[in-house]
Amino acid sequence: METIKNMALIVQKFGGTSVANIECIRNVAKRVAAERAAGNKVAVVLSAMAGVTNQLDAWAREVSTLSHPEDMAEYDAVVSTGEQVTIGLLALTLRSMGIPARSWLSWQLPIRTDDMHMKARVSSIETKELLVSLEKGEVAIVPGFQGITESGRVTTLGRGGSDTSAVALAAALKADLCDIYTDVDGVYTSDPRIVKKARKLNKIGYEEMLEMASLGAKVLHTRSVEMAMKHNVRVQVRSTFSDNTGTFLVGEEEIMERRLITGITYSRSDAQVSLIKVENKPGIAAKIFGPLAEAEINVDMIVQSISPDGKVADITFTVAKTDLDKTLEALKISGLKYEKLFTASNIAKVSVIGVGMRSHAGLAQKMFATLADKGINIHAISTSEIKISVLIDEEYLELALRALHTAYGLDAGK
Ligand code: ASP
Ligand code: MG
Repeated sequence: METIKNMALIVQKFGGTSVANIECIRNVAKRVAAERAAGNKVAVVLSAMAGVTNQLDAWAREVSTLSHPEDMAEYDAVVSTGEQVTIGLLALTLRSMGIPARSWLSWQLPIRTDDMHMKARVSSIETKELLVSLEKGEVAIVPGFQGITESGRVTTLGRGGSDTSAVALAAALKADLCDIYTDVDGVYTSDPRIVKKARKLNKIGYEEMLEMASLGAKVLHTRSVEMAMKHNVRVQVRSTFSDNTGTFLVGEEEIMERRLITGITYSRSDAQVSLIKVENKPGIAAKIFGPLAEAEINVDMIVQSISPDGKVADITFTVAKTDLDKTLEALKISGLKYEKLFTASNIAKVSVIGVGMRSHAGLAQKMFATLADKGINIHAISTSEIKISVLIDEEYLELALRALHTAYGLDAGK
């Protein structure tokens, strides 16, 4: 039993499905009120209502190709508005319940970012007014996703960016906890919609979560994890719709039960490009990837195989599906010679993640053997210190996820 009650400062972030309509906002208000009634100071970060940012995005794209930096600035002016509605509505709802609350837009604080419109990074948050408000016992409500440049233009942080706003605010306020409320009750070993035996993790290390997020787990914005790791913010991912404890992001040393593999993620957002019979001579890789880099196209996996006589090579690589047209254009301009070029979009990347890879051999082999056993062909492989990714045909994705989940001993009830 707790005898001394310490007042904690908590940042609560609610995603789009948590504020999808007025009834949902009332539910959020109750959660906020309960946290405050427990004696805590509460700052809230909100997303736009589910679907609203999609609609704003679609409208902007209907009237513009967004090819000029000025266009991108106007895009941000449009898509940042969804959050203005929800923060005001929550403040009103709380006030009508007799709870003092106030909302701020990012420029009113301000929340400063760089000037990379559509994917800006937070550089600082002025917390002076928020601290005064919290001190008075008010609930301070801030929009996710948006910021303002040094020169006074509104920016957005990239889709899903309000997680990052919340963690940045928690860091700036030196909050005791950043609760990310969403529509799932935590981080799972794999996507529970596909892998029925997936388990909720009680804790996950920052580094593993970073890999999971960047390799397809949609539960957190990748940058929010980077930010939490850098500033040591204690983050809990939990459900708005239940009282269950969620998943805590913590330093690796805090995880007692050491497992080798923590999670298996996937992504369908890559496309494969294969160049057949490229002349094999020094500088050829530079000739392919130089123009891609110049066009700001991120290349993920790369495989090269040389013909037995050493004269030609086949090169396969992956790019984001959304970059495929740009990639083909850049290859055309490069003047590169090859016999054949083919592309595939019906592929998926499956990644196995775990810090156990640092100290244990054989974990990659287990992946290859499991897939071979199911007759699943691997088109490309990439690895880092704590992850292995393979590229497979999309039609085998679900089979691969379930088989790997079992093979690594992650199934629930084991
Ligand atoms: N509303 C923004 C989006 O839908 C930001 C967020 O919800 O995280 O991407
Ligand atoms: Mg989100």
